[in-house]
Amino acid sequence: MLDGFTKTRAMNFPRQVLAGHGCISQIGDMCEAFELKGTALIVTGPTTGALAAYQVKDALLQKKYDVQQVEVGVASQQNLVKVEEIAKDVKASFLLGVGGGSKIDLAKLASANLKMPFISVPTSASHDGLASPRASIKDGGNSLSLNASVPLGVIADTALIVKAPYRLLASGCADVISNTTAVLDWELAVRLRTEDFSSSAANLAKYAAESIIENAAGIKPNLEESVWVAIRPIIISGISMAVAGSSRPTSGSEHMFSHLLDKIAPGKALHGEQCGVGSIMMMYLHGGNWQRIRDALQMIGAPTSSKELGVSEEQLIEALVHAHEIRKDRYTVLGDRGLTPDAALRLARITKVV
Ligand SMILES: [Zn+2]
Repeated sequence: MLDGFTKTRAMNFPRQVLAGHGCISQIGDMCEAFELKGTALIVTGPTTGALAAYQVKDALLQKKYDVQQVEVGVASQQNLVKVEEIAKDVKASFLLGVGGGSKIDLAKLASANLKMPFISVPTSASHDGLASPRASIKDGGNSLSLNASVPLGVIADTALIVKAPYRLLASGCADVISNTTAVLDWELAVRLRTEDFSSSAANLAKYAAESIIENAAGIKPNLEESVWVAIRPIIISGISMAVAGSSRPTSGSEHMFSHLLDKIAPGKALHGEQCGVGSIMMMYLHGGNWQRIRDALQMIGAPTSSKELGVSEEQLIEALVHAHEIRKDRYTVLGDRGLTPDAALRLARITKVV
């Protein structure tokens, strides 16, 4: 019976995802295929994206685009305003985020605010946001996760990404591995609360994590094939958020733990590294195979302990104890009351995190 059915959901996806060796040279063709016209504004960094930005610019000039460039640092409110003002000044008609996560996030948010298409050209893959509709931005001391535009296209050139520090790729893999516990938290919330669930989104997120775990032995520094193996699950993880219409399939208790560490020990470890360690511990709380998560992270070379994260035992325990407070709307294995300090210490010891 269809009477009374009122559900609707929008899913926004990239129109084309191009991944592989040297594919950055195809950026001009991609822009033409999307029928983009006028002035392109490249959003990039002074160092990390410089070479890639040069290649993008060259390819676009060959296609007779008018190309402008803005160099920015971290994804802050101030830099976002800078990008938006320059986009207006140069009368940009589309944006290209060329660089690491912060440049992509700035382009993603500016694109949403200016209602302008953007193309994501990552030069590293430290988290699963390359193709997702979510972006993080620093506002004062806080890091906010906001809804932003899904890129119209993604160009992930493995030859470029392999040149970024390996730590970033390992962190991106750890972020995707952490989907295992995010999905378990989601399933738990569905059983305990009346929360919407999308099995297609959950399956995509799980598939992405499994494919990294299964291929963990082949993910190594200075090996372009590692980027090839890792980049597709990293992108698919982002797509699972687009299917769900939220970050639910990729962000549960392990992400709450990571957000707490961002507050307690800012700048010590990368987002994905923290989520990976969080996932080991949350998998134990779920009664699942936490050793498998730990083994995969170790094989990839991502941190599995507080020492490797560069945080003290006290900071780690504090993050565990307060993790449940971060998003009251997101029910997880931590429940409404979270862990007691004793239970947190026991958990961290059993899982060899401290
Ligand atoms: Zn994440």
